[in-house]
Amino acid sequence: MVKILQKKNFCRWIDSLSRQYALIGPVKEREETEFQPLRCPEQLEMDYISTMAAPRKFIYPSRQLLFRFTPQGDDQLITEEILPQSQQILLAVHPCDAHAIMVLDRVLMGEFTDSYYTKQRQNTFLIVLNCQKVDKNCFCDSMGTGPFLHSWMGQDPAKGCDLELTDLGDRYLVEFLNGKIRKLFSFPLETANDEDIQLKKKREVGIKEKFIKKLNIENLPSSLRQNMDHSVWSRIGEAICLSCTNCTMVCPTCYCYNTVDTVKLDLSKSERYRYWDSCQELHFAEVHGGNFRSTRGARLRQFVLHKLSYWMEQYGCFGCVGCGRCINWCPTGIDLTEIVKEIRGTKINEQYS
Ligand code: SF4
Ligand code: SF4
Repeated sequence: MVKILQKKNFCRWIDSLSRQYALIGPVKEREETEFQPLRCPEQLEMDYISTMAAPRKFIYPSRQLLFRFTPQGDDQLITEEILPQSQQILLAVHPCDAHAIMVLDRVLMGEFTDSYYTKQRQNTFLIVLNCQKVDKNCFCDSMGTGPFLHSWMGQDPAKGCDLELTDLGDRYLVEFLNGKIRKLFSFPLETANDEDIQLKKKREVGIKEKFIKKLNIENLPSSLRQNMDHSVWSRIGEAICLSCTNCTMVCPTCYCYNTVDTVKLDLSKSERYRYWDSCQELHFAEVHGGNFRSTRGARLRQFVLHKLSYWMEQYGCFGCVGCGRCINWCPTGIDLTEIVKEIRGTKINEQYS
């Protein structure tokens, strides 16, 4: 079902959403735009380019209380499991971030099911906003995850997203991807005509021409596998990478975590939390006194190969959606697309030569 929403009615339309859902969307905060719970629809920043933290944090939080427990003999008894209860709508999520959430669905709701992620995901509606602007480090067009929403690597967006919005100037094209979300809106919408649909296509062609950064993904998984010993890993990993973990904290598909228990001295209250961990951290690969990724080069290679090679074998898709965040937020300017170019023997940016 394709509809038209006049922009002058946008806030009333958002306001018409059922009150039982928390609304989360991009909000301008000083110089940056961040996903935040909304106080009112007017706060929404609909022409943002990117955010530092991806919207994944509202489904898979950076720190999460999992359960409370009490010692019982030599064992522990879980007294209370803390499954997420929030019912929420993520608004204006760009296609690359929507695909990143669908990538996490494959990881955490596939063969292995994470009950915490699954509960929150099932209580989350995803409203996608097709992009109108391109950042210098965006390469979703090369990956196939943007700038407009389409199927990607066997993933039908209608199975992971609920509604797609396209900015057509003075109005939005509104495409309901399933029937569930339609029931939440009470505001009447106009029916879209052929001209609106054609304009959407034209806008997509126009924005695709604006991409500066590109990544050649042809045979990429095997090409990287064949270059495990390439000098780029030690040169960039050892000389430039700081192991600061920024790249993994901002990446919308990273899912590694660690757990920590907090226990009161009198044992009256014990809680288990999980928090995001990072393969770039020295102790991540420490096992029984040894460390199988003790060098920064090995850790950088793990990040790049997991995203662009191993992930394909594990989950049937890339683990990179081309959002450009790891490049934007790397304090030393490390760029995985330049690493790939060097490995493939193509011309690289001067900064890396
Ligand atoms: S690897 Fe970098 S560009 Fe790719 S999805 Fe993660 S943060 Fe975005
Ligand atoms: S953000 Fe850059 S410097 Fe920090 S760990 Fe990642 S690649 Fe290394």
